Amino acid sequence: MLRPADLLAWYDRHRRDLPWRARAGGTADPYRVWLSEIMLQQTTVATVAPYYERFLARFPDVAALAAAPEEAVMHAWAGLGYYARARNLHACARAVAGQGGFPCDVEGLRALPGIGPYTAAAVAAIAFGVPVVPVDGNVERVAARLFAIAAPLPGAKPLIAAAAARLGADAAARARPSDFAQALFDLGATVCTPAAPACGVCPLLAGCAGRRQGIAAELPRKAPKPARPLRHGAHFWLTDGRCVLLRRRPPRGLLGGMSELPGTPWRAERWSTAEALVHAPMQAAWREVGEVRHGFTHFELHLAVFSARVARIEGEGFLHPADALAAAALPSVMRKCAAAVSAPPAAPARGSPRAGRAGRAG
Ligand code: SF4
Repeated sequence: MLRPADLLAWYDRHRRDLPWRARAGGTADPYRVWLSEIMLQQTTVATVAPYYERFLARFPDVAALAAAPEEAVMHAWAGLGYYARARNLHACARAVAGQGGFPCDVEGLRALPGIGPYTAAAVAAIAFGVPVVPVDGNVERVAARLFAIAAPLPGAKPLIAAAAARLGADAAARARPSDFAQALFDLGATVCTPAAPACGVCPLLAGCAGRRQGIAAELPRKAPKPARPLRHGAHFWLTDGRCVLLRRRPPRGLLGGMSELPGTPWRAERWSTAEALVHAPMQAAWREVGEVRHGFTHFELHLAVFSARVARIEGEGFLHPADALAAAALPSVMRKCAAAVSAPPAAPARGSPRAGRAGRAG
């Protein structure tokens, strides 16, 4: 029989010490819970922790975040990826500051920018003690195994969510909704792990149908994913030895508002060198110095990286000190391009060594 009280007792002994978590018996700060939940989407705890600490030092509360310029927020976020989240984070902070604090129920939270059903449930349960079970990847896995749900994801999501809600409806879980949600997170992260669940030390072993049926490690099953399409582009490192030319991406859309090296649009066909150099920011002795590969959620990107050193930089954009790129709001894919430039040089660019004056890339 499944006994949520056993999970809570286990949590009291084994809870993880995380920077955004309240102490045992303490009250969670909704700002910290919300911030950590947004950062943790698609990202691991180990990656998020240092970003979270820096972000919190810079924006200690929702009023400070709301009052900050968008550029400062994007800069503090740079490297975490999924930049629409940073823009929504900022918009949400402004909405929350405008209404004098976070709403304390799921519906009110759900109405805020960038807060989906999961995050609304997580903040409501953890910060406000609302008896709901937020279903993230860890909880999905634990619930699928406990109830031996063999139907594949994503179709099985409603079944799994209903199973998690059944678990949360138990009286012990309802008495401690914040701890119960976090106990499920911790069980999934440390015991009921994806490849090798440590059932021998699991507090829910006695009631686990997946374990009983010998299928726990295979769950949750997943429907095969369609292959991600491949896109190609080229970007240009233009320096005078001190500065490098950067430009700002459009405010909306993928990597919106972030800085980047000037480059071509990204498209399905590979760019020939001659085609790519049409998009170079100025005429120069361009050298192809490497290729960068980067995975976005919906597509894979391969970028040719070109480099040139000139006496005087021309072209649209702005100059940034080349030795202080850590301070620029560059997304990870552009940091990879910058790193490719410092790798040993490749052969001169195919085709003409001097590019014609370029138009601007889109
Ligand atoms: Fe996961 Fe095993 Fe515990 Fe079942 S018994 S919840 S499969 S760790």
